[in-house]
Amino acid sequence: MYRSAPISLWDATSEETEIESVAVPDQTVDVAIVGGGFTGLSAALHCAGKGLLAHVLEAKHIGYGGSGRNVGLVNAALWLPPAKVREKLGPEFGERFLRRFSEGPSVVFDLIETHQIRCEVTKTGTIHAAHGPSGSEDLKDRHAEWRRLGEPVDLLGPEHVAEMIGTTVYHGGLLDHRAGTINPMGYCRGLARAATGAGAKISTGVRVEKLERESGTWHVLTDAGDFRADAVVLGTNAYTDGLWPDLRNVFTMIHYLQFATEPLGSSAGHILPGRQGVWDTGPIMFSVRRDANDRLLVGTMGRVIGSKNKGLTRRWAKKRIARMFPELGRVSFDEAWHGQIAMTPDHLPRIHQLAPRLWTAIGYNGRGITTGTLFGSAIADLLTGMDPTHLPLPVTNPSQAPRAAITSRLYDLAFTANQLWKGLR
Ligand SMILES: Cc1cc2nc3c(=O)[nH]c(=O)nc-3n(C[C@H](O)[C@H](O)[C@H](O)COP(=O)(O)OP(=O)(O)OC[C@H]3O[C@@H](n4cnc5c(N)ncnc54)[C@H](O)[C@@H]3O)c2cc1C
Repeated sequence: MYRSAPISLWDATSEETEIESVAVPDQTVDVAIVGGGFTGLSAALHCAGKGLLAHVLEAKHIGYGGSGRNVGLVNAALWLPPAKVREKLGPEFGERFLRRFSEGPSVVFDLIETHQIRCEVTKTGTIHAAHGPSGSEDLKDRHAEWRRLGEPVDLLGPEHVAEMIGTTVYHGGLLDHRAGTINPMGYCRGLARAATGAGAKISTGVRVEKLERESGTWHVLTDAGDFRADAVVLGTNAYTDGLWPDLRNVFTMIHYLQFATEPLGSSAGHILPGRQGVWDTGPIMFSVRRDANDRLLVGTMGRVIGSKNKGLTRRWAKKRIARMFPELGRVSFDEAWHGQIAMTPDHLPRIHQLAPRLWTAIGYNGRGITTGTLFGSAIADLLTGMDPTHLPLPVTNPSQAPRAAITSRLYDLAFTANQLWKGLR
């Protein structure tokens, strides 16, 4: 499918290429999967591995949603501390969730290895950096909780974190050895290649417009033709449209943006020499990483206002880099982009059964690489008879996020104000 401009740095630099799209099926399939991101493609790969005829339908192109736009931090678990996860899910599901999600990065790394996915993988961990004294206290608690669970995390003092990141702005950090980084578009395209290799089919540039249940099967109506499916999976997440009534109101949509510099060569060699990805404890999250081509990527919540060449967000990115890494001097930017994130009121993801043989996993709260991979595989298990009580969290009925549209707009305003304020300082 012809595309004029890349949607992200990852789209422009991924070594994995786009897969060939095939026509919409002319026969009944076992499972129709809507959405070509981590969730849909992991579901397709695992369904095909179980002998199901799986067909993915993607309205735009592979990785068009959050999957091709994200930071690429392959994090273990959620950004909620473990105690909060246990409190919200109860002891049984809470323990299981924490155990499965602690193993999440290694599930992703194993898939990358098995299918030889070219996605610039690093397995040297991620750093959760303390933006101030309260952040340091939060990290101490998280460290104690993870260590009690026997997980490999280290608390870093200000000097150690300065050495690992290459800036003195942080008050400390938590190094998570389970985690790593990837080129997310590379991983997404690699999953598509693996899924088609296992027998799944993928049609891109095809929007599913309606789903009707008729005589025990699903009638899937698309803008490129109709077909029948025994089961349907919705992997549309923050890019959910009006396909299923009210599904887009189960979450509040926020944006996250990134600016990527030109390759900086050896002048950036002291920044993240171990190539860990960084996210911070600030109330409006900030992230920084160095990619395989020595570009520096900085990101925060909100939309790109302007472009890589001019405007408010460029000013914010320049100030932020100058404050953290003044020795770099002037930098130019190669790419600027943003994407949509689905936030749930309790910050936990959801698995819903919307109707007989119709499943969705949604609301990943900015943690989709491991969650999409694990939930796509879990849905394949559900479709082949797994008891839902074996999932990492209970199946719930969709409930509307309170005032989702208004909250989304208020967040947008707050994030723009943040860019304005930090771009001036
Ligand atoms: C900027 C940004 C930074 C992030 N950083 C990280 C990170 O560092 N680490 C991490 O783990 N997670 C991160 N996330 C979250 C992560 O990217 C998402 O949770 C994840 O990509 C969701 O994957 P998905 O497959 O469920 O949905 P998506 O990748 O969003 O895919 C949904 C797809 O559904 C398609 N679609 C929608 N409706 C239809 C229809 N009717 N017919 C056909 N197709 C349809 C869309 O075109 C889209 O391609 C980030 C997200 C963003 C936006």
